[in-house]
Amino acid sequence: MWGIIATWVMAKDGIDKASKLLNDNSSCKEALLAAIKDVEDNPDFWSVGYGGLPNEDKEVECDAAYMNGDNLKVGCVGAIKDIANPIEVAEHLSHEDLNNFLTGDGAKKYAIEKGFMERDMLTQKAINAYEEKKKFSKPYRGHDTIGCIALDSNNSMCAGTSTSGLFMKRKGRIGDSPLIGSGYYADSLIGGAAATGLGEDIMKKCMSYEIVRLMSEGYSPQKACEKALLSYSTKLKGDCSLIAMNNKGEFGAATNIDDFSFVVATQNLKPTIYRVSRITDHSELYLPDEKWLSDLLAHI
Ligand code: ASP
Repeated sequence: MWGIIATWVMAKDGIDKASKLLNDNSSCKEALLAAIKDVEDNPDFWSVGYGGLPNEDKEVECDAAYMNGDNLKVGCVGAIKDIANPIEVAEHLSHEDLNNFLTGDGAKKYAIEKGFMERDMLTQKAINAYEEKKKFSKPYRGHDTIGCIALDSNNSMCAGTSTSGLFMKRKGRIGDSPLIGSGYYADSLIGGAAATGLGEDIMKKCMSYEIVRLMSEGYSPQKACEKALLSYSTKLKGDCSLIAMNNKGEFGAATNIDDFSFVVATQNLKPTIYRVSRITDHSELYLPDEKWLSDLLAHI
């Protein structure tokens, strides 16, 4: 069985590509990198990679991470600037024995040394949004990180994230997305999970590890997401949306906001967009109607 799941509708084209790769027996790593790079490269998605919204100093600082579920190796970059595909750098770092989590100038130096493509990540559209937002001065609190979990037909799993973080964040601020166990986690013997939302809160409860831990106790991905989110919500109020897939290709999601969506494909399911209802005692997954989809595409 193969499968892949990623946060937000913006992941749809990437999941289309990744599912073809998985169907052709590519590895979960190749599929996940293809899915995330597709979003990083698209200037219309302003929360990830090229075209991402800047920090308060008008710089696009990106966070990304990759976790290999077979050996639990992890690579992470935080506040990296002007490197086209932070997820590739994170994946490369996961092969190192030491120095797996690099930030700022150190992360950029490593990326250049290893031959990764440099790119000015700030687009005119992002500058315009910055100039407009500067008038209000509060950081944007909404969320749109891409988090992705992939399972290949050899039963290997991996997880990855990529984000430009919160719009108008402080220079140097790092959220949950590159933090192991908070923004993502994968263990091929169990499954994987990823989070998007207010990093400052998500990291307090190590949400992704918690979901994988619950799956190891026998909870389905759906129940594990719900249980983790209900325990988060007893003390924390920041936006939090979660996805998970286990090593059988079963998936789930939960959210505490009104408009969370994700994209999933498996050997038995063509790439499909789901919306997720805000959690009460559980979250429901449902298919979006045409109007919701066309309004969203018009907005992008
Ligand atoms: N979790 C990300 C962060 O706090 C934001 C997001 O999901 O968009 O940086």
